[in-house]
Amino acid sequence: MDYKKIREDFPILSREVYGKPLVYLDNAATTQKPRCVVDAISDEYYNANANVHRGVHFLSQQATSMHEAARKTVCTFVGASNTNEIVFTRGTTESINLLASSLSKISNKNEVVVSVMEHHSNIVPWQLNGFKVKPFVDLNDFESLISDKTAIVSVAHVSNVLGIQNPIKDIIRIAHERGIPVMLDAAQSVPHMKVDVKELDCDFLAFSGHKVYGPTGIGVFYGKEALLDKLPPYQGGGEMIDHVSFSKTTFNALPYKFEAGTPDYIGSHALAVALDYISSLGMSSISDYESQLTQYAIQQLQSVEGLKTYGLGNNVENRCSVVSFNLFNEGTLIHHLDVGTLLDRLGIAVRTGHHCAEPLMHYLNIEGTVRASFSFYNTTDEVDMLVAGLQRIRKMF
Ligand code: PMP
Repeated sequence: MDYKKIREDFPILSREVYGKPLVYLDNAATTQKPRCVVDAISDEYYNANANVHRGVHFLSQQATSMHEAARKTVCTFVGASNTNEIVFTRGTTESINLLASSLSKISNKNEVVVSVMEHHSNIVPWQLNGFKVKPFVDLNDFESLISDKTAIVSVAHVSNVLGIQNPIKDIIRIAHERGIPVMLDAAQSVPHMKVDVKELDCDFLAFSGHKVYGPTGIGVFYGKEALLDKLPPYQGGGEMIDHVSFSKTTFNALPYKFEAGTPDYIGSHALAVALDYISSLGMSSISDYESQLTQYAIQQLQSVEGLKTYGLGNNVENRCSVVSFNLFNEGTLIHHLDVGTLLDRLGIAVRTGHHCAEPLMHYLNIEGTVRASFSFYNTTDEVDMLVAGLQRIRKMF
Protein backbone atom coordinates (compact mmCIF):
# COMPACT_ATOMS: atom_id res chain seq x y z
CA MET A 1 0.00 0.00 0.00
CA ASP A 2 1.22 3.46 -0.86
CA TYR A 3 0.24 5.30 2.34
CA LYS A 4 1.43 8.70 1.13
CA LYS A 5 -0.80 8.44 -1.90
CA ILE A 6 -3.70 7.04 0.14
CA ARG A 7 -3.51 9.91 2.62
CA GLU A 8 -3.78 12.34 -0.27
CA ASP A 9 -7.17 10.81 -1.04
CA PHE A 10 -8.41 12.05 2.37
CA PRO A 11 -8.14 15.86 2.36
CA ILE A 12 -9.08 16.21 6.05
CA LEU A 13 -5.96 14.29 7.11
CA SER A 14 -3.73 17.17 6.10
CA ARG A 15 -5.47 19.72 8.31
CA GLU A 16 -4.15 20.98 11.61
CA VAL A 17 -5.88 21.26 14.98
CA TYR A 18 -4.53 23.67 17.60
CA GLY A 19 -1.71 24.40 15.15
CA LYS A 20 -0.63 20.75 15.20
CA PRO A 21 -1.02 18.09 12.53
CA LEU A 22 -4.22 16.11 13.03
CA VAL A 23 -3.64 12.55 14.23
CA TYR A 24 -7.03 10.94 13.74
CA LEU A 25 -7.35 7.79 15.82
CA ASP A 26 -11.14 7.70 16.23
CA ASN A 27 -11.91 5.50 13.25
CA ALA A 28 -14.13 3.08 15.14
CA ALA A 29 -16.53 5.98 15.75
CA THR A 30 -16.43 7.11 12.15
CA THR A 31 -13.93 7.04 9.32
CA GLN A 32 -12.82 9.98 7.21
CA LYS A 33 -14.02 10.15 3.62
CA PRO A 34 -11.93 9.88 0.47
CA ARG A 35 -12.35 12.62 -2.10
CA CYS A 36 -14.17 10.21 -4.47
CA VAL A 37 -16.98 9.71 -1.92
CA VAL A 38 -17.44 13.44 -1.28
CA ASP A 39 -17.34 14.07 -5.04
CA ALA A 40 -19.93 11.34 -5.65
CA ILE A 41 -22.34 13.13 -3.30
CA SER A 42 -21.95 16.56 -4.89
CA ASP A 43 -21.90 15.12 -8.42
CA GLU A 44 -25.20 13.36 -7.91
CA TYR A 45 -26.83 16.42 -6.37
CA TYR A 46 -25.50 18.59 -9.20
CA ASN A 47 -26.24 16.22 -12.06
CA ALA A 48 -28.60 13.37 -11.29
CA ASN A 49 -30.85 14.31 -8.40
CA ALA A 50 -34.44 13.10 -8.58
CA ASN A 51 -36.59 10.90 -6.38
CA VAL A 52 -36.12 7.24 -7.24
CA HIS A 53 -38.44 4.44 -8.37
CA ARG A 54 -41.64 6.33 -9.11
CA GLY A 55 -40.54 8.73 -11.82
CA VAL A 56 -40.99 8.22 -15.54
CA HIS A 57 -38.60 11.04 -16.35
CA PHE A 58 -34.94 10.78 -17.29
CA LEU A 59 -33.41 12.03 -14.05
CA SER A 60 -35.56 9.79 -11.88
CA GLN A 61 -34.55 6.81 -13.95
CA GLN A 62 -30.89 7.76 -13.77
CA ALA A 63 -31.05 8.19 -9.98
CA THR A 64 -32.92 4.88 -9.73
CA SER A 65 -30.25 3.09 -11.77
CA MET A 66 -27.53 4.53 -9.55
CA HIS A 67 -29.40 3.49 -6.40
CA GLU A 68 -30.02 -0.04 -7.65
CA ALA A 69 -26.45 -0.33 -8.96
CA ALA A 70 -25.34 0.56 -5.43
CA ARG A 71 -27.44 -2.29 -4.06
CA LYS A 72 -25.67 -4.61 -6.49
CA THR A 73 -22.27 -3.32 -5.34
CA VAL A 74 -23.19 -4.00 -1.70
CA CYS A 75 -24.54 -7.42 -2.66
CA THR A 76 -21.26 -8.39 -4.34
CA PHE A 77 -19.18 -6.80 -1.55
CA VAL A 78 -20.73 -8.98 1.18
CA GLY A 79 -21.22 -12.02 -1.06
CA ALA A 80 -25.04 -12.12 -0.81
CA SER A 81 -27.01 -14.35 -3.19
CA ASN A 82 -28.99 -11.56 -4.81
CA THR A 83 -30.07 -7.96 -4.30
CA ASN A 84 -33.37 -8.98 -2.61
CA GLU A 85 -31.19 -9.72 0.39
CA ILE A 86 -29.81 -6.17 0.65
CA VAL A 87 -31.96 -3.65 2.50
CA PHE A 88 -30.77 -0.05 2.84
CA THR A 89 -31.22 1.41 6.32
CA ARG A 90 -29.82 4.39 8.21
CA GLY A 91 -27.09 2.25 9.73
CA THR A 92 -26.33 -0.66 12.02
CA THR A 93 -28.63 0.71 14.71
CA GLU A 94 -31.64 0.89 12.42
CA SER A 95 -30.85 -2.54 10.95
CA ILE A 96 -30.95 -4.17 14.39
CA ASN A 97 -34.09 -2.24 15.35
CA LEU A 98 -35.70 -3.48 12.14
CA LEU A 99 -34.90 -7.09 12.92
CA ALA A 100 -35.88 -6.87 16.60
CA SER A 101 -39.18 -5.20 15.77
CA SER A 102 -40.10 -7.56 12.92
CA LEU A 103 -39.00 -10.70 14.69
CA SER A 104 -40.93 -9.80 17.84
CA LYS A 105 -44.13 -9.81 15.77
CA ILE A 106 -43.74 -13.40 14.56
CA SER A 107 -41.60 -15.20 17.13
CA ASN A 108 -43.11 -17.17 19.98
CA LYS A 109 -39.69 -17.17 21.71
CA ASN A 110 -38.56 -14.19 23.71
CA GLU A 111 -34.85 -14.57 24.44
CA VAL A 112 -31.85 -13.27 22.54
CA VAL A 113 -28.33 -14.46 23.27
CA VAL A 114 -25.65 -11.78 22.86
CA SER A 115 -21.98 -11.48 23.81
CA VAL A 116 -20.82 -9.44 26.78
CA MET A 117 -19.04 -7.09 24.34
CA GLU A 118 -22.14 -5.70 22.61
CA HIS A 119 -22.73 -2.11 21.65
CA HIS A 120 -25.93 -0.69 23.15
CA SER A 121 -27.48 -0.86 19.70
CA ASN A 122 -27.40 -4.65 19.94
CA ILE A 123 -28.97 -4.67 23.40
CA VAL A 124 -31.59 -1.94 23.65
CA PRO A 125 -33.60 -2.72 20.46
CA TRP A 126 -34.14 -6.26 21.76
CA GLN A 127 -35.25 -4.97 25.16
CA LEU A 128 -37.59 -2.44 23.54
CA ASN A 129 -39.23 -5.25 21.62
CA GLY A 130 -39.85 -7.48 24.60
CA PHE A 131 -36.85 -9.81 24.36
CA LYS A 132 -34.84 -10.93 27.37
CA VAL A 133 -31.15 -10.35 26.64
CA LYS A 134 -28.80 -13.11 27.81
CA PRO A 135 -25.07 -12.32 27.64
CA PHE A 136 -22.23 -14.81 27.27
CA VAL A 137 -18.49 -14.37 27.84
CA ASP A 138 -17.12 -17.47 26.18
CA LEU A 139 -18.29 -20.43 24.13
CA ASN A 140 -19.09 -22.58 27.18
CA ASP A 141 -21.39 -19.88 28.50
CA PHE A 142 -22.82 -19.49 25.07
CA GLU A 143 -23.91 -23.11 24.76
CA SER A 144 -25.43 -23.11 28.21
CA LEU A 145 -27.52 -19.99 27.52
CA ILE A 146 -29.20 -21.40 24.45
CA SER A 147 -32.60 -22.83 25.26
CA ASP A 148 -35.95 -23.51 23.64
CA LYS A 149 -36.81 -19.87 24.41
CA THR A 150 -33.94 -18.54 22.25
CA ALA A 151 -35.38 -16.64 19.29
CA ILE A 152 -32.04 -15.52 17.89
CA VAL A 153 -28.33 -15.12 18.61
CA SER A 154 -27.18 -11.56 17.91
CA VAL A 155 -23.47 -10.82 18.24
CA ALA A 156 -20.84 -8.30 17.33
CA HIS A 157 -18.36 -9.70 14.84
CA VAL A 158 -15.67 -7.40 16.31
CA SER A 159 -15.97 -5.45 19.56
CA ASN A 160 -15.89 -1.66 19.16
CA VAL A 161 -14.21 -1.39 22.58
CA LEU A 162 -11.64 -4.19 22.60
CA GLY A 163 -11.19 -4.85 18.89
CA ILE A 164 -11.53 -8.54 19.67
CA GLN A 165 -13.43 -10.89 17.37
CA ASN A 166 -16.16 -13.08 18.74
CA PRO A 167 -15.59 -16.76 17.78
CA ILE A 168 -18.19 -16.27 15.13
CA LYS A 169 -17.74 -19.46 13.15
CA ASP A 170 -18.29 -21.59 16.27
CA ILE A 171 -21.18 -19.40 17.39
CA ILE A 172 -22.94 -19.79 14.05
CA ARG A 173 -22.28 -23.54 13.90
CA ILE A 174 -23.59 -24.16 17.42
CA ALA A 175 -26.65 -21.94 16.92
CA HIS A 176 -27.50 -23.59 13.61
CA GLU A 177 -27.16 -27.07 15.14
CA ARG A 178 -30.05 -25.96 17.38
CA GLY A 179 -31.98 -24.35 14.52
CA ILE A 180 -31.43 -20.80 15.81
CA PRO A 181 -30.66 -17.94 13.38
CA VAL A 182 -27.68 -15.63 13.91
CA MET A 183 -27.52 -11.88 13.43
CA LEU A 184 -24.04 -10.43 12.99
CA ASP A 185 -23.30 -6.83 13.96
CA ALA A 186 -20.53 -6.23 11.46
CA ALA A 187 -20.16 -2.49 12.10
CA GLN A 188 -16.55 -2.99 13.19
CA SER A 189 -15.56 -5.84 10.89
CA VAL A 190 -16.72 -4.80 7.42
CA PRO A 191 -14.31 -1.81 7.34
CA HIS A 192 -11.32 -3.98 8.24
CA MET A 193 -11.62 -7.46 6.76
CA LYS A 194 -13.27 -9.47 4.04
CA VAL A 195 -16.76 -10.34 5.29
CA ASP A 196 -18.62 -12.87 3.20
CA VAL A 197 -22.12 -13.74 4.37
CA LYS A 198 -22.16 -17.08 2.53
CA GLU A 199 -18.80 -18.15 3.88
CA LEU A 200 -19.86 -17.19 7.42
CA ASP A 201 -23.36 -18.55 6.88
CA CYS A 202 -24.82 -15.80 9.10
CA ASP A 203 -28.56 -15.32 8.68
CA PHE A 204 -28.60 -11.55 9.10
CA LEU A 205 -25.87 -8.92 9.08
CA ALA A 206 -25.71 -5.18 9.66
CA PHE A 207 -23.15 -2.47 9.02
CA SER A 208 -22.94 1.31 8.77
CA GLY A 209 -21.81 3.31 5.76
CA HIS A 210 -20.02 5.98 7.77
CA LYS A 211 -17.65 3.48 9.40
CA VAL A 212 -16.63 2.09 6.03
CA TYR A 213 -15.54 5.39 4.42
CA GLY A 214 -19.04 6.15 3.13
CA PRO A 215 -21.45 8.89 4.20
CA THR A 216 -23.51 9.11 7.37
CA GLY A 217 -27.19 8.19 7.25
CA ILE A 218 -26.88 5.05 5.14
CA GLY A 219 -26.37 1.48 6.25
CA VAL A 220 -27.10 -2.07 5.29
CA PHE A 221 -29.28 -4.84 6.59
CA TYR A 222 -28.58 -8.19 4.98
CA GLY A 223 -30.82 -11.21 5.48
CA LYS A 224 -31.15 -14.59 3.81
CA GLU A 225 -34.00 -14.21 1.36
CA ALA A 226 -36.11 -17.04 2.78
CA LEU A 227 -35.90 -15.48 6.25
CA LEU A 228 -36.57 -11.92 5.09
CA ASP A 229 -39.62 -13.24 3.27
CA LYS A 230 -41.08 -14.44 6.55
CA LEU A 231 -40.48 -11.19 8.44
CA PRO A 232 -43.25 -8.58 8.45
CA PRO A 233 -42.49 -4.97 7.40
CA TYR A 234 -40.78 -2.68 9.89
CA GLN A 235 -42.08 0.78 9.04
CA GLY A 236 -45.05 1.77 6.91
CA GLY A 237 -45.23 4.39 4.18
CA GLY A 238 -44.51 4.86 0.52
CA GLU A 239 -42.33 2.42 -1.40
CA MET A 240 -42.94 -0.56 0.91
CA ILE A 241 -46.49 -1.17 -0.32
CA ASP A 242 -48.07 -3.06 -3.19
CA HIS A 243 -51.67 -1.78 -2.88
CA VAL A 244 -53.26 0.39 -0.21
CA SER A 245 -56.89 0.86 0.67
CA PHE A 246 -58.46 2.14 3.87
CA SER A 247 -59.36 -1.38 4.82
CA LYS A 248 -56.32 -3.38 3.71
CA THR A 249 -52.74 -2.92 2.52
CA THR A 250 -50.54 -5.40 0.72
CA PHE A 251 -46.80 -5.11 0.74
CA ASN A 252 -44.08 -4.73 -1.84
CA ALA A 253 -41.58 -7.47 -2.71
CA LEU A 254 -38.12 -7.73 -1.16
CA PRO A 255 -36.13 -5.66 -0.47
CA TYR A 256 -38.59 -2.76 -0.78
CA LYS A 257 -40.94 -4.23 1.82
CA PHE A 258 -38.43 -2.97 4.42
CA GLU A 259 -37.70 0.41 2.83
CA ALA A 260 -40.54 2.78 3.72
CA GLY A 261 -40.30 6.32 2.37
CA THR A 262 -37.80 7.98 0.09
CA PRO A 263 -34.54 6.08 0.47
CA ASP A 264 -31.18 7.79 0.88
CA TYR A 265 -30.32 7.27 -2.78
CA ILE A 266 -27.48 9.81 -2.66
CA GLY A 267 -26.05 7.94 0.32
CA SER A 268 -26.42 4.51 -1.26
CA HIS A 269 -24.50 5.63 -4.35
CA ALA A 270 -21.76 7.26 -2.26
CA LEU A 271 -21.55 4.11 -0.11
CA ALA A 272 -21.02 2.04 -3.26
CA VAL A 273 -18.23 4.43 -4.30
CA ALA A 274 -16.64 3.94 -0.85
CA LEU A 275 -16.88 0.15 -1.14
CA ASP A 276 -15.34 0.28 -4.61
CA TYR A 277 -12.57 2.46 -3.21
CA ILE A 278 -11.62 0.03 -0.44
CA SER A 279 -12.02 -2.92 -2.81
CA SER A 280 -9.49 -1.26 -5.11
CA LEU A 281 -7.04 -1.09 -2.19
CA GLY A 282 -7.81 -4.75 -1.46
CA MET A 283 -9.47 -5.97 1.74
CA SER A 284 -6.64 -8.38 2.48
CA SER A 285 -4.00 -5.62 2.10
CA ILE A 286 -6.10 -3.44 4.40
CA SER A 287 -6.37 -6.25 6.99
CA ASP A 288 -2.66 -7.03 6.84
CA TYR A 289 -1.58 -3.43 7.15
CA GLU A 290 -4.03 -2.59 9.92
CA SER A 291 -3.21 -5.65 11.99
CA GLN A 292 0.52 -4.87 11.73
CA LEU A 293 -0.18 -1.30 12.78
CA THR A 294 -2.35 -2.45 15.69
CA GLN A 295 0.31 -4.91 16.87
CA TYR A 296 2.89 -2.13 16.61
CA ALA A 297 0.63 0.13 18.69
CA ILE A 298 0.10 -2.57 21.35
CA GLN A 299 3.86 -3.12 21.54
CA GLN A 300 4.75 0.57 21.72
CA LEU A 301 2.04 1.29 24.29
CA GLN A 302 3.74 -1.21 26.59
CA SER A 303 6.63 1.24 26.89
CA VAL A 304 4.33 3.72 28.64
CA GLU A 305 4.68 3.16 32.36
CA GLY A 306 1.35 2.59 34.12
CA LEU A 307 -0.59 1.86 30.93
CA LYS A 308 -3.01 -1.06 30.99
CA THR A 309 -4.65 -2.38 27.84
CA TYR A 310 -7.90 -4.32 28.00
CA GLY A 311 -8.80 -7.66 26.50
CA LEU A 312 -11.23 -10.39 27.38
CA GLY A 313 -9.92 -13.44 29.20
CA ASN A 314 -6.60 -14.34 27.63
CA ASN A 315 -7.66 -13.08 24.22
CA VAL A 316 -5.56 -9.91 24.03
CA GLU A 317 -3.62 -10.43 20.81
CA ASN A 318 -6.30 -11.05 18.22
CA ARG A 319 -7.16 -7.36 17.73
CA CYS A 320 -8.81 -5.66 14.87
CA SER A 321 -7.68 -2.03 14.63
CA VAL A 322 -8.85 -1.04 18.12
CA VAL A 323 -6.91 -0.70 21.38
CA SER A 324 -8.55 0.30 24.66
CA PHE A 325 -6.45 1.32 27.63
CA ASN A 326 -6.21 3.33 30.82
CA LEU A 327 -3.30 5.20 32.28
CA PHE A 328 -2.32 4.88 35.94
CA ASN A 329 0.10 6.89 38.00
CA GLU A 330 1.51 4.72 40.78
CA GLY A 331 -1.66 2.71 40.83
CA THR A 332 -4.01 5.71 40.69
CA LEU A 333 -6.17 5.96 37.60
CA ILE A 334 -5.76 9.06 35.49
CA HIS A 335 -9.32 9.62 34.31
CA HIS A 336 -9.87 8.68 30.67
CA LEU A 337 -11.50 12.04 30.01
CA ASP A 338 -8.37 13.86 31.21
CA VAL A 339 -6.17 11.68 29.02
CA GLY A 340 -8.41 12.22 25.99
CA THR A 341 -8.61 15.97 26.55
CA LEU A 342 -4.85 16.33 26.89
CA LEU A 343 -4.21 14.16 23.83
CA ASP A 344 -6.64 16.35 21.91
CA ARG A 345 -4.52 19.41 22.74
CA LEU A 346 -1.63 17.62 21.07
CA GLY A 347 -3.74 17.16 17.94
CA ILE A 348 -4.49 13.50 18.68
CA ALA A 349 -8.14 12.47 18.37
CA VAL A 350 -9.11 9.44 20.45
CA ARG A 351 -12.40 8.46 22.06
CA THR A 352 -12.98 8.18 25.79
CA GLY A 353 -15.79 6.80 27.93
CA HIS A 354 -17.89 3.66 27.90
CA HIS A 355 -18.08 3.53 24.08
CA CYS A 356 -21.80 2.67 24.16
CA ALA A 357 -20.93 -0.61 25.87
CA GLU A 358 -21.80 -0.03 29.53
CA PRO A 359 -22.43 -3.73 30.27
CA LEU A 360 -18.89 -4.52 29.09
CA MET A 361 -17.55 -1.75 31.36
CA HIS A 362 -19.42 -3.34 34.27
CA TYR A 363 -17.95 -6.72 33.36
CA LEU A 364 -14.43 -5.26 33.26
CA ASN A 365 -15.21 -3.33 36.44
CA ILE A 366 -14.17 0.01 34.97
CA GLU A 367 -15.94 3.24 34.18
CA GLY A 368 -14.41 3.80 30.79
CA THR A 369 -11.30 3.62 28.67
CA VAL A 370 -9.27 5.62 26.21
CA ARG A 371 -9.72 4.05 22.78
CA ALA A 372 -7.37 4.45 19.84
CA SER A 373 -8.75 2.99 16.63
CA PHE A 374 -6.86 2.74 13.38
CA SER A 375 -7.44 2.85 9.67
CA PHE A 376 -5.24 1.99 6.70
CA TYR A 377 -4.45 5.71 6.42
CA ASN A 378 -2.82 5.80 9.86
CA THR A 379 0.93 5.36 10.17
CA THR A 380 3.51 4.13 12.68
CA ASP A 381 4.59 7.79 13.02
CA GLU A 382 1.12 8.57 14.30
CA VAL A 383 1.31 5.69 16.77
CA ASP A 384 4.65 7.10 17.95
CA MET A 385 2.99 10.50 18.45
CA LEU A 386 0.25 8.85 20.53
CA VAL A 387 2.84 7.07 22.66
CA ALA A 388 4.93 10.25 23.11
CA GLY A 389 1.73 12.13 24.04
CA LEU A 390 0.82 9.54 26.67
CA GLN A 391 4.31 9.61 28.11
CA ARG A 392 4.07 13.37 28.39
CA ILE A 393 0.65 13.22 30.04
CA ARG A 394 1.83 10.66 32.56
CA LYS A 395 4.68 12.93 33.60
CA MET A 396 2.19 15.76 34.15
CA PHE A 397 0.34 13.77 36.77
N1 PMP B 1 -22.36 -1.83 16.64
C1 PMP B 1 -21.06 -1.58 16.79
C2 PMP B 1 -20.13 -2.72 17.10
C3 PMP B 1 -20.59 -0.28 16.68
O1 PMP B 1 -19.30 -0.03 16.84
C4 PMP B 1 -21.49 0.76 16.39
C5 PMP B 1 -21.04 2.20 16.29
N2 PMP B 1 -20.13 2.58 17.25
C6 PMP B 1 -22.83 0.43 16.21
C7 PMP B 1 -23.23 -0.87 16.34
C8 PMP B 1 -23.85 1.46 15.87
O2 PMP B 1 -23.59 2.00 14.62
P1 PMP B 1 -24.41 3.25 14.08
O3 PMP B 1 -24.35 4.29 15.15
O4 PMP B 1 -23.66 3.66 12.85
O5 PMP B 1 -25.78 2.80 13.80
